[in-house]
Amino acid sequence: PSALREVELQVPRTTWDDIGGQAELKQALKEAVEWPLLHADAFARMGVRPPRGVLLYGPPGCSKTLAAKALASEARTNFIAVKGPELFSKWVGESERAVASLFRKARAAAPAIIFFDEIDALAASRDGGGSGGVGARVLSQLLHEVDGIQPLQSVLVVAATNRPDLVDPALLRPGRFDRLVHVTLPDEPARAQVLRIHTRQMPIAADVDLQQLAAHTDGYSGAELAAVCREAALRALEEDITSEQVNLAHFERALGVVKPRTTAATLSFFA
Ligand code: ATP
Repeated sequence: PSALREVELQVPRTTWDDIGGQAELKQALKEAVEWPLLHADAFARMGVRPPRGVLLYGPPGCSKTLAAKALASEARTNFIAVKGPELFSKWVGESERAVASLFRKARAAAPAIIFFDEIDALAASRDGGGSGGVGARVLSQLLHEVDGIQPLQSVLVVAATNRPDLVDPALLRPGRFDRLVHVTLPDEPARAQVLRIHTRQMPIAADVDLQQLAAHTDGYSGAELAAVCREAALRALEEDITSEQVNLAHFERALGVVKPRTTAATLSFFA
C-alpha cells in the first residue's frame, strides 16, 4: 500500500496570466522547462544538454505550485504532483519502488513534468524519525532516476521548498536540480496584479482602489492576498446575504483578519 498509488496524471488549466508578478520566475521556468521540452533540437544545435531539474525556493504561498501547474498547462504536458512526505511508506522497499514507478509513469506519459512539493521532507527524514533510513534510500532512488533522464525522454522534474537550507546538496549537483529559482514575496506592482486576478469575478465597489490596497499590503504573500479578497467577499455577505458589491470597508475588515505570516526569520533562509 503505497501512498503514491493514487498519484494522478493531470493537465492543469492554470495559465501564466493566473500568476501576478513573478516575471523572473515565469521566464526562468519557460527557459528551463519549455525550451528543452519543445526545442530539444535547439539544445543539440548548441551542443549543450538541457537542464533536467529546477528547484523553486521561497516563502510559502508565493506561487511555486501555481507556477509548476501553469508550466505544465502552457507547455501542454502531463503533470504529476507529489508532496515530499508522500514519498515515504512504512513498508520497507515500498518507497523506492514508488519512486521508480513514478518516473516510469512519467516516461510513459511524456512529455511530462513531475512536481515534487516540499522536497525538503526528504532531508528531514533522511537520518532518523525512526524510519530506518528510508529517507536515504528514497533520496538515492530519486537521484538515480533523475540521473537516468535522457534528453529526448521529455521528462522534467520541478521541485519546491520553503526550506532550501534543508535540501540535500546531492540533489543540487550539476545535471540534477541545477536550476535554482528564487521565488520572492510580491512587490507592490505584483501585489496589485495578484489583487486584480483574485477580484476578476468579484463585483467590487467604486471605492475599492486595488492600487492603494497593494500599497498597504507590504509583506503579504500571493496566497495571503487571495485570502484577503475571499475574506472581503465573506464580510460583504455576512453584513447582508443579498449584497451585490464588496466595498472598501469589507476589504479593511479583511485586512484586520488576514495578516502576513512570512517573518524576517523565515526570509533569512533565502538570503
Ligand atoms: P507553499 O510553499 O505553501 O506550497 P506555494 O508557493 O506553492 O506555497 P501556491 O500553492 O502556488 O504557493 O499558492 C497558493 C495560492 O495563492 C494559489 O492557489 C493562488 O490562489 C494564490 N497565489 C499565490 N501567488 C499568487 C500570484 N502570484 N498570483 C495569483 N495568485 C497567487
